[in-house]
Amino acid sequence: PACNPQKQMITDSAYMLGTHLQLSLWTEDKAEGMAVIRECFQRIYQIEQKMSVNIANSEVNEINRYAGKEYVAVSDDTMTVLRKGFAYAALTDGAFNPAIGPLVKLWGIGTEKERVPRLDEIQEVLKYVDYKGIKFQDENKVKLDIDGMQLDLGGIAKGYAADAVTKIIREKGIKHAIINLGGNVVAVGKKTDGTPWKIGIQDPFEPTGTHMGVIEITDQTVVTSGNYERYFMRDGKRYHHIIDPKTGYPSENGVISATIITDSSIDADALSTSVYVLGLEKGMKLIESMEGVECIIITEGKKVYLSSGLKGRLKIANDGFEIVD
Ligand code: FAD
Ligand code: MG
Ligand code: MG
Repeated sequence: PACNPQKQMITDSAYMLGTHLQLSLWTEDKAEGMAVIRECFQRIYQIEQKMSVNIANSEVNEINRYAGKEYVAVSDDTMTVLRKGFAYAALTDGAFNPAIGPLVKLWGIGTEKERVPRLDEIQEVLKYVDYKGIKFQDENKVKLDIDGMQLDLGGIAKGYAADAVTKIIREKGIKHAIINLGGNVVAVGKKTDGTPWKIGIQDPFEPTGTHMGVIEITDQTVVTSGNYERYFMRDGKRYHHIIDPKTGYPSENGVISATIITDSSIDADALSTSVYVLGLEKGMKLIESMEGVECIIITEGKKVYLSSGLKGRLKIANDGFEIVD
């Protein structure tokens, strides 16, 4: 047609969920594009209000407050994330654990209170991190069985927020977008030139934004869990924020980062944390057992392990990394 207006990029960023958010979309109608981005940020704001442990009257804190006492009615949003989190806890035998709250608080990683707890403190708190103590009733009620249990959805709610934003963008008829919620990436459609999106995989040994490789995707999500974003050093040792619920200490099994590539970001978020804690062997086995889910695991020594569906698809951008077949 003679009159075919060019699509232009509309982009905006914000700080929520304790991280940097960036939304970019391509549209002919600039005002409409900006309105869509505003709506997306409002949606993330709502999700944060419901699920943050750092917001006093969030639904998650309400559940935590009534631990050992009463069922609490929550929104569909929170319920969806909790049911999903519980399902992944069951699937991973508790390696992924939405009841990790007491350990997250005790370590305080990423806060002013971060410290290495004493062993007896960890042992005391471990009694309260059994995900089986999360009880569901009716459509929308949740209760923590024991006083002292605490939910923490930091390992899964960002993925849910990314899916919620993706839904809005698709419903508005937008065909090209990149959503980045602090490393939780969703690529909507393809680039405007019809080629797939190229998503960089963070080099875990270099500053944020340095990529060890690139992967091409269309209408999929890429989510990474790593030990390099949130940690503190004590006596030459790195204490990071992904905790092994079996030991109560930051997970230490040789995995430096775990990246999941799949269709839904909530699954990718839960699975990246899961694989990080499960380690190379069990983590890869889990991913291979799941249809439509792929992963990149980087271990100490810059060794890179790919799930079977990714072989040949990761372009290494740094010779220091070695793909192990
Ligand atoms: P992931 O691997 O996806 O998740 C790691 C996080 O999950 C940990 O930080 C911990 O919260 C939790 N976790 C640890 N071990 C496990 C385990 N074995 N199983 C399950 N979960 C585990 N950060 C701030 O600094 N300030 C804030 O106010 C703040 N508010 C937030 C509100 C919401 C709703 C969300 C989702 C996140 C918020 N965050 C905030 C960030 C949060 O604390 C985590 O740091 C972040 O979600 C980590 O995500 P990740 O993708 O890097 O790692
Ligand atoms: Mg996660
Ligand atoms: Mg698979």
